[in-house]
Amino acid sequence: MKRLILLGLCLGLGSGVLLAQRKAAKKAVSSSTEALVVSKPQPALKSYSLVAKDEFGTVGLSGVMQRAEGARMAKGKALGAEMQTLFDSLQTPFEKSGGLATASYTECVTWYRRLAKAFPAYCALTSIGLGDAGKDIYVFKLLGERMGRMDRLGQSDDGIPAGPNQMASPKVKILINNNIHPGEPEGTDASMFLVRDLLFFGQYWQQTLPYLELHVVCQYNVDGTLNRNAHSRANQNGPVEYGFRGNAQNLDLNRDFIKMDSRNAKALVALMASEKYHLFVDNHTSNGADYQYVLTYFHTRPEKLMPEIVPNLLQLETGLKHQLARQDWPTAPYVEMIKTVPDSGLFAFWESGRYATGFAALHNTIGYTVETHMLKPFSQRMLATLAFMEQFLTVSTSDSLRAQFEKYRMKGWVRRVADQPVHYLPIAHTLDLKQHEMIPFKGFEFGYRPSEITGADRLVYDTRKPWEKPVRYYNHYVPTDSVRVPRAYIIPFAYDDVIQKLKRNGIAVSNVPMDTLVSLRVSYIVDYKTVSHPYEKHYLHHSVKTRDTVMKVMVRAGDVVAVVKPDNERFLTAVLEPRAADSYFAWNSFDGILQQKEGYSDYVFEDKAAVWLKAHPDKYAELQRKKAQDPVFAKDAWAQLNWVYKQTEHYEPTHNLYPIYRVD
Ligand SMILES: [Zn+2]
Repeated sequence: MKRLILLGLCLGLGSGVLLAQRKAAKKAVSSSTEALVVSKPQPALKSYSLVAKDEFGTVGLSGVMQRAEGARMAKGKALGAEMQTLFDSLQTPFEKSGGLATASYTECVTWYRRLAKAFPAYCALTSIGLGDAGKDIYVFKLLGERMGRMDRLGQSDDGIPAGPNQMASPKVKILINNNIHPGEPEGTDASMFLVRDLLFFGQYWQQTLPYLELHVVCQYNVDGTLNRNAHSRANQNGPVEYGFRGNAQNLDLNRDFIKMDSRNAKALVALMASEKYHLFVDNHTSNGADYQYVLTYFHTRPEKLMPEIVPNLLQLETGLKHQLARQDWPTAPYVEMIKTVPDSGLFAFWESGRYATGFAALHNTIGYTVETHMLKPFSQRMLATLAFMEQFLTVSTSDSLRAQFEKYRMKGWVRRVADQPVHYLPIAHTLDLKQHEMIPFKGFEFGYRPSEITGADRLVYDTRKPWEKPVRYYNHYVPTDSVRVPRAYIIPFAYDDVIQKLKRNGIAVSNVPMDTLVSLRVSYIVDYKTVSHPYEKHYLHHSVKTRDTVMKVMVRAGDVVAVVKPDNERFLTAVLEPRAADSYFAWNSFDGILQQKEGYSDYVFEDKAAVWLKAHPDKYAELQRKKAQDPVFAKDAWAQLNWVYKQTEHYEPTHNLYPIYRVD
């Protein structure tokens, strides 16, 4: 037997390492600005305080890290000689630097290539396309179903052919995404630990591997990852170097999932749409308040899910929290505060489709965003991310959950008002400030003192005064706008960009065979606001108001029809309904319609308008009423003439006509 059971060894070793390193680790807690000064990399063993517990009890253990420590520090005991040599050749940059460094793009790709080459039957490294910098985005795929039946390890191992019963087991498909923000790289290094452990220590994962299909985006924002520096995360405690947030177009990729301006987004969207993952994890580092937790996270809002699936999300949540607490990793919801500090209360984050997890939800994938705390040392943050992912895999593949995930994904994980021909979907939600619960929270006392820079009072957290007390948590959203879901949308040939976006999202479209005049439900854009400065390469529209009407529309050969189905209606309404916050309209795909193409010269139209009003006494009366009721309008000669123009047949009917038509 090549692999030895490591459990006893881990416990003994873990205790020894813990005792020796806890004292040293206390200094590493984010208690002052001193913690922000990153020391030079030390030899690995000396500063390897990776399983150390900090003074607030917020840093725990993980099975993966215990096994990694065991294999590294007690060579030849946990692994046979051949595997030990292989394991040693797969030390990560994090380990080599004593927990101070994150893997560069080259280091990361080289490492994964080596791993994939070592276990060709059980994993694969593939490119999903180029990022904007022209470098490949790699996805590591663990063939978990084979892993579950692995009986030996080695370069020539092709695994055992699957039997029919084994193939029938429901699988949980999980995608982990790293370095969407390359300055927040814990997931990159944690994923390397995780997949190495799955391959080297499969015996500890026997309840998980047969039911797991795991894909890892090694470093999504390859462009930013290549742009390494040590300064752009001003408030962050390590690693010594990291990538930059913007990609090669200086885009924040965690806002690009709907508009897909980047090649990166095009590649990842295609992957997510085609693979239809059950679960998605996006790894980040927080900004914002100070508190004791290393690990916080948020997940897809239950309001986005059909009611039947909500208990399963809650079951996953309960299991995760329980397991993380058992391993001494207390967690809190991602800290969004009602006012300046956590004491004021927290509220649940709502992520729309532009964000990774918001986008995942549109494709019926439950998304989790992990946020480790910026002021905690990088090694602790990496450990927290690793512990989260380890437990995430364990809990989500448990007996009761895995069957549910498969069942509901196939039906479409969306909330429907009712399962009837005419139904409505919410497209906007707002936080319900009337409902809250009390949750335990571990924070720091805060105060104010004069700023050395401005003289004004500045906020200070006193990390010598930790507290634990219940705080208000606002965890409910209510719908504030909804749309009638049509049977199909028609997208004119002219909007090829939109058609391509739909296709990339896996939406099946068919061509209209011939020019046809049909009555369809259309919307006029009645009002909207636009941001005053470019936002992620766009002048984003918001606060959109529409007026629906049914009119005869010439649908032409080559226009496309997208049929609305339970599994795509959440996505289609989110992108094609113009009032939705992240609609293609909001992201400027239809700005052409917002500009009037023809007009008039006042001195010419004055005479025509007078004749027209005489022929339309009802409109003349309406004009008089409007003047009487609106003093500003009454004094504005141009506005009055323009009002008359817009009542006449001269005014173009396509101005502000939203060009996506609905078949009801
Ligand atoms: Zn981030």
